[in-house]
Amino acid sequence: MPSPSAMSIPKHIEFVEVGPRDGLQNEVVLISTDDKNALINRAIDAGARRIEVTSFVNPKRVPQMADAEAVCANLPDRDDVTYIGLVMNQRGAERAIATNKIDQLGAVAVATDSFAMANQGQSSDESVEAARAIIALAQAEGRTAQCTIAASFGCPFEGEVPDRRVLEMALAIAEAGPVEIALADTIGVGDPAHVARLIALVHKEMGPLPVRVHFHNTRNTGLANVWAAVTAGATVVDASIGGLGGCPFAPGAAGNVPSEDVVYMLERAGVSTGMNLDSLIQASHWLSDIMGRKLPGMVAQAPSFPKAA
Ligand code: ZN
Repeated sequence: MPSPSAMSIPKHIEFVEVGPRDGLQNEVVLISTDDKNALINRAIDAGARRIEVTSFVNPKRVPQMADAEAVCANLPDRDDVTYIGLVMNQRGAERAIATNKIDQLGAVAVATDSFAMANQGQSSDESVEAARAIIALAQAEGRTAQCTIAASFGCPFEGEVPDRRVLEMALAIAEAGPVEIALADTIGVGDPAHVARLIALVHKEMGPLPVRVHFHNTRNTGLANVWAAVTAGATVVDASIGGLGGCPFAPGAAGNVPSEDVVYMLERAGVSTGMNLDSLIQASHWLSDIMGRKLPGMVAQAPSFPKAA
């Protein structure tokens, strides 16, 4: 665990909105393509410059993402926005590249064999190889790629995940040349001390390659984990508007950390995110109406602070 003196508050982090993909993928009721594009446009208007817009996976397994190509066709042409498409294999990568809209492929490796099998039908080592192949394919096609290590902080089937396993995977994937590597708490079991320790370790060993973090708020440790991560060296943070989200293949996984709650916390603490909080709150209210229910995010339900002059 890093000593308190090893922690430092960054001036800036890079924000990634993942609501259109990770936020929506677990919803049973199909959201219209138009509403998905409206959510993406609201994220852009709120300042998001990296957005996970969809995933190119088997529609039989994840029906909510069956309109990936249609969502991409409606994306505004913005040179200043990086559109990320999540892919699990070569077929998904080829679909993403064929849209001509996806700037960056997001690959996924999984830290344990049981979860890798449930999520993508392969062993953990095979998922590392698949991620490396996706990164190579993206580069050959003039795109960038990044990789998320799912279940970095715990597995729904196997329990504890050793730090050294996550580090070993991160180093193996880093060799393939991704723009960053993310550690994901897919099922929301991490605590801030664990997060600080693992992020500091991976950050130190991977050198200049940025570390992104992806937290789910299943046990209400999400925001604390974001803070632990950014003060331990993570420079990129995933979040979803309203705190929507879950994983179809991870029993009991709840939503992502809410974008507006993350932005409120970081900006109040002096960490700039490039995001407009009021726009995010309005987007969260809009999304709540679309979903027909209250969303988990708390800042959008609270009075504004500080009060407008
Ligand atoms: Zn997730």
